[in-house]
Amino acid sequence: MTPFAAHVYAERRRRAAIQAAEAGLDGVLVTPGPDLVYFLGYTPAAVTERLTLLVIGAEDPDAAAVVVPRLEAHDLELGAVGGIEARPWSDGEDEHAVAARLLRDGGRYAISDAAWALHLLGLQRTLRSASFAAFTRALPMLRASKSPEEIARMAAAGAGADAAFREIVRRPFAGRRERDVAADLAELLLAHGHEQVDFTLVCAGENGADPHHEASDRAIREGDMVVLDFGGLADGYGSDTTRTVHVGEPTAAEREVHDVVRAAQQAGVDAVRPGATCEDVDRAARAVIDDAGFGEGFIHRTGHGIGLTTHEPPYMVAGETTPIAPGMCFSVEPGIYLPGRFGVRIEDIVVAFPQGVPGLDDAPEAAVRLNTSPRELLVVA
Ligand code: ZN
Ligand code: ZN
Ligand code: ZN
Repeated sequence: MTPFAAHVYAERRRRAAIQAAEAGLDGVLVTPGPDLVYFLGYTPAAVTERLTLLVIGAEDPDAAAVVVPRLEAHDLELGAVGGIEARPWSDGEDEHAVAARLLRDGGRYAISDAAWALHLLGLQRTLRSASFAAFTRALPMLRASKSPEEIARMAAAGAGADAAFREIVRRPFAGRRERDVAADLAELLLAHGHEQVDFTLVCAGENGADPHHEASDRAIREGDMVVLDFGGLADGYGSDTTRTVHVGEPTAAEREVHDVVRAAQQAGVDAVRPGATCEDVDRAARAVIDDAGFGEGFIHRTGHGIGLTTHEPPYMVAGETTPIAPGMCFSVEPGIYLPGRFGVRIEDIVVAFPQGVPGLDDAPEAAVRLNTSPRELLVVA
């Protein structure tokens, strides 16, 4: 992933410190993964049991320290980062004690969702009266609004996924296994700018009724509805799109279900307007499906945020009353699942109220789709 300028990371850490203070936290503890990429632009060459921990203290937004294995300290190139103090530790030392010196016993900290239990338990053992909360529970919206530079990368990832879809529908479906089409999709994502493929779901016929069906050896046949849901990371940022195609001519009943999902997806996108909350998107999409009599077949939330990971806050789900803010990127992906028969899902990533993004900010809509693949029911061979 191409790094951003050093000041971008400094501003992100500053925002984390300020939001942590507002939330009554003493700081944010960041372990390798998307959070560390976000705040430091750094990933260890190999994520092992050795502790790497960025500590962003709430009391001083411009200072941070990173606990790092001595043998990897040079990889950090902190000289180029600035404003960060390295606390190397050597094999044989108690790394949790090293980290604890930067923390306050009795303090309250947010810690990366995917921090190893090994390290959280080590910190809890060392700081007996400190408390820890999962990062996305304590500060769920910290990464939710993307900067213009991030949105540009999201748009490029979306365009890459759309290019993969354009090519896959020109290839044969009938007579091939779900697994074969999934392998093609993965190869096409990589050919179109992705460095990482996160999922390529290919769900034919009755398998489409399972929203997270894994591509299997099932042969695709004439008459199958096929749900294609695929995505990954391109220059560090996520794509995630779904289209449902039909092998040969669909029946009127299949067309009807697809039309309902398409209208629901449009309603979800249209619900993004000034003053709207995340749950409004879910409610709008769900109402269309309920009104058409398929409410029982829509068994998941309408969408999820996306950025450095392909699933992150905010979630478009009943009860999520967070207002939709400029720069939020999330999926709108209603579906109808008919057990034993087929499923239909249509998914685009949208960006809310984009500002300052070349090519997007002149758009009149409140929400701009980053996926523009056709949404009508495509017939494939
Ligand atoms: Zn059919
Ligand atoms: Zn998806
Ligand atoms: Zn999704």
